[in-house]
Amino acid sequence: MKPLVIQDLRKTYPDGKQALRGFNWELDDGVYGLLGPNGAGKSTLLEILSLNLMPSSGQVLWQERNIQTSPVFFRRALGYLPQTYGFYPELKARQMLSYLGGLHGMHGRTLRRRIGEVLEIVGLTAEARRKLKTFSGGMKQRLAIAQALLHSPKLLVIDEPTTGLDPSERVAFRNMLFDLGQESIVLLSTHIVKDVEFSCRQMTVLYNGLQRFTGRPVDFMNRVEGRVFEVRRSRRDFDAFAQAHHVIAFREELEDVTIRFIVPAGILDLPDGARSAPVNLEDAYVDFIRERQVIEEEEGALEAVI
Ligand code: ADP
Repeated sequence: MKPLVIQDLRKTYPDGKQALRGFNWELDDGVYGLLGPNGAGKSTLLEILSLNLMPSSGQVLWQERNIQTSPVFFRRALGYLPQTYGFYPELKARQMLSYLGGLHGMHGRTLRRRIGEVLEIVGLTAEARRKLKTFSGGMKQRLAIAQALLHSPKLLVIDEPTTGLDPSERVAFRNMLFDLGQESIVLLSTHIVKDVEFSCRQMTVLYNGLQRFTGRPVDFMNRVEGRVFEVRRSRRDFDAFAQAHHVIAFREELEDVTIRFIVPAGILDLPDGARSAPVNLEDAYVDFIRERQVIEEEEGALEAVI
């Protein structure tokens, strides 16, 4: 059995909202991505996994033990990085970690050695003696990961902050996730589809409490294989083009716009000048969300008729 097993997890809030409607996943070492629009149920899942919320039914097993009934056992293995975290701006990085390590019951030489190790893992060794008020967003995020790693968790749950990292920080973040995934389970909930594409061996897509896809990013991308194209149009023609096609992205170049768009399955008739483009995860995700929205609108219209 894999170390982390999530079985038919359901959560209905007291107001009747079904935030999770049967979630299943089995994870062993590696980085796993959780994608879904706002309100999909991601935080609900992460709150249950971090023991902050009770499921309505179903269970989570860590090394074959139920996390709700063996919370102490599970907490030893769990590192949780919430979306928002507070640091004392006047403290230096090492002092902050020393304080937080104390909260984990760590102290003395063991704590000092471990602080050195986690600073190294997140690439903040040179900044250990800098005050936190001088840290960039990316550095703060790395420090937050360092604190989550202090007690050497075998499961790291990351609710990725939406605050931007600059491009080099993003690359460093992805590399760090990859390294951590070599010998622990990293579960990353994120809005940044590229992070999943480049870091995760497996992903799941939640939508309205339902798990709509679980598998490798490349398999999710297959849903749009051969349907993504790019075309150049003048700025003047952009609006008309966007009205008639599913535009995913565009890039402005002087007088022209290069438009990335997706065609529905089975459409053979392409606009003039369209060139096939290699697909990425964002294409597949945007297409998936659009498809769900269409289905929901149709279902809503049907219900209105009934
Ligand atoms: P996500 O993290 O994907 O944005 P959430 O897990 O926060 O999704 O929310 C899932 C659904 O549950 C949403 O419709 C949200 O409004 C609802 N929800 C979240 N927390 C509560 C709560 N405490 N009481 C009632 N409904 C909630």
